Amino acid sequence: MKPAAFTFHRPGSVDEALALLAQHGAAAKALGGGQSLGPMLNMRLAQPEHLIDLNDLIELDRVIDHGEWVEVGALTRHHRVATAPEIRQGVPLLADAAATIGHYAIRQRGTLGGSLVQADPAAQLPLVAVTLGADVMVRSRRGRRTVAAAEFLRAIMSVDLAGDELVTGVCFPRQPDGERWAFDLFSRRHGDFAIVAVALTLQLDDAGAIVALRLGVGGVGPVPMRLTAVEQRAVGLVPDGDTILDLARNAAAAITPEDDPLVPAKYRRDLVETLTARALRRVTADWPEVTT
Ligand SMILES: Cc1cc2nc3c(=O)[nH]c(=O)nc-3n(C[C@H](O)[C@H](O)[C@H](O)COP(=O)(O)OP(=O)(O)OC[C@H]3O[C@@H](n4cnc5c(N)ncnc54)[C@H](O)[C@@H]3O)c2cc1C
Repeated sequence: MKPAAFTFHRPGSVDEALALLAQHGAAAKALGGGQSLGPMLNMRLAQPEHLIDLNDLIELDRVIDHGEWVEVGALTRHHRVATAPEIRQGVPLLADAAATIGHYAIRQRGTLGGSLVQADPAAQLPLVAVTLGADVMVRSRRGRRTVAAAEFLRAIMSVDLAGDELVTGVCFPRQPDGERWAFDLFSRRHGDFAIVAVALTLQLDDAGAIVALRLGVGGVGPVPMRLTAVEQRAVGLVPDGDTILDLARNAAAAITPEDDPLVPAKYRRDLVETLTARALRRVTADWPEVTT
């Protein structure tokens, strides 16, 4: 099938793109990498009257290390997110997660902004944004605003973004020195969207006790989420084999996935338990006192 007719715009600056969005509003759609919007246009699930191609807006393809946080522009491709030295050093969880998205060709085209706005509950980048407490930067002709990723994401293809607004970037807090991290997912075939994905960071004190755990899960509800009750339970514990199993079981008990025709809720819960335990084992594997 081919897309319904639309007027194609190729603005040369963010200001020009914002002017087009202000003019056409809900009748327009921004085009990032086209890895989600392309198929939706072809299947006529999206039929915008105006398509505003962002691909000339090189000012949105940027990675800036601000010290306490790393700013990643909305047009930054997944491959660059996975490989940029500023991200590998400052936000390694983000880099590792981006490297697992789809296939190489998809990572060469797909963008951070597109992934956030598409808001698939199992997508890697929204999950990491929620887990790390990132902020989404939004701009329109009316001004700029910043919104926490956890508030920006509402459900698949539903985000806190007005018709005249563009996502211009995301600010990720730098991960503290010495913090351990792991990203893991389960999908039916390599390159498919995850059924369930888990992102975590862990800080241990000198005795091997947990100082801080951040645990995010995707694919278990309308949006990726932090399991804060499990994070709090973990503090002060030494993550030996029994503790890891206990935390993983608590993670599985903390979610309420729904049955769907392809994946029973229990299967997702089992995946959360397995992936959480695997990720915790991986980040503590070099710590003799805590491994079993
Ligand atoms: C075979 C296949 C496998 C895939 N596997 C995965 C996977 O495993 N994990 C994963 O996360 N993704 C996966 N994807 C999706 C891919 O990562 C997309 O790149 C991503 O979902 C959307 O990014 P995009 O830049 O292509 O956005 P587009 O498709 O161009 O746009 C998506 C939506 O975002 C809007 N948009 C884009 N940029 C902006 C902006 N700056 N401001 C406001 N609105 C904007 C568009 O209007 C549209 O509504 C897969 C895609 C394919 C085709």
